[in-house]
Amino acid sequence: MLACLVSSESLPILPSAAPSHPPPPLLAAAEGELPAWLAGIGEKKFRAGQIRRWMISRRIQSFEQMTDLSIGLRQQLADRFSFSSLQTVRHQVAGDRTEKLLLRLHDGELVECVLMRDPGRKTVCISTQVGCAMGCVFCASGLLGVKRDLTAAEIFEQVLVLHRLMKEDEKITNVVVMGIGEPLANYNNLMQALDVLCGDHGFGLGARRITVSTVGLPRQIREFARCGKQFNLAVSLHAPNDELRTRIVPVNKGTGLKAILAAADDYFDITGRRVSYEYVLLAGINDQQDHAEELAGLLHGRNCHVNLIPMNGVSEMVMTAPGEPRTHQFCDLLKDRGIPATVRKRKGADIDAACGQLRLNRTANGSVVEGECAG
Ligand code: SAH
Repeated sequence: MLACLVSSESLPILPSAAPSHPPPPLLAAAEGELPAWLAGIGEKKFRAGQIRRWMISRRIQSFEQMTDLSIGLRQQLADRFSFSSLQTVRHQVAGDRTEKLLLRLHDGELVECVLMRDPGRKTVCISTQVGCAMGCVFCASGLLGVKRDLTAAEIFEQVLVLHRLMKEDEKITNVVVMGIGEPLANYNNLMQALDVLCGDHGFGLGARRITVSTVGLPRQIREFARCGKQFNLAVSLHAPNDELRTRIVPVNKGTGLKAILAAADDYFDITGRRVSYEYVLLAGINDQQDHAEELAGLLHGRNCHVNLIPMNGVSEMVMTAPGEPRTHQFCDLLKDRGIPATVRKRKGADIDAACGQLRLNRTANGSVVEGECAG
């Protein structure tokens, strides 16, 4: 059953007067104007660090909860800044306790993020762009093109908002950058956000617990390989040859599988991290035995893993996932040829779980269709 709430964060300490334009979000300011602003109101320099720590490391919901700051300073902060740059406009909870949020940014644009719960593992999935320019034919995120990149603060704050949904004894263990957008097309902001996430005052997450999924941008994959951290790389392959891949993933035209695989091989050589290849199974399009054979040949000799993802239905599209028998045949064939492969478990099947589906419903129709199911 779909449980749906509409929520917005409360601000017990409210701005004294309504500002003429939205106040800047504090977290973004903490990286920039905050120290100068504090000096301007006669506050000590170290307050900037204190405030920044509150913002990134604690599960607080308002300025009021920054209890080691004077009430006066908390009020001044509330007058000058907004507590968060993200406003929750839709909150879905699935039967398996997967939670999906539709968030409004300061300029009215929408993005999505998801919290997935498994025994011993709590994974958050975050977005990096408003929309996507890659145009993959099965993906809801790209149907309206790309509007803009998310800032580093907007990327990181999604983790904060999801963290606030969790119980005291729950802890984020993994982050997957598999939401809306092409993460490596917004490389600098992504890296800044991941830095905060891994930092001691952020969530102190090890890079090995973070996976970045890309359509396959060779230059950025190599830059990512040289960043000095052991992040996981997932490459969205979806086809075993260029002719088919260009039909499914149009940006492939200017890149080609050879260049993508060479960059992914470099990623493995430089970081020692096994690359995973995502392959969305589309019935009658890329799910035949021949495709599996060809894929096994393409990946032969590589230390990799294939993640098969039966397509999540997108209401605007006619493509569907193959049935279970074909999905498992495809997986078994890869394994028989020595390629480690698994079928991705579906999370949140009873909510709009396909990537970008919530935003698409809201942006295209102006309203969300209650109870619409992605799969
Ligand atoms: N731009 C990045 C991130 C996209 S989302 C990339 O291309 O990797 C993460 C994964 O979900 C990608 O492999 C993407 O192709 C896949 N995906 C998108 N829409 C989907 C759908 N409707 N069903 C199944 N997988 C989907």
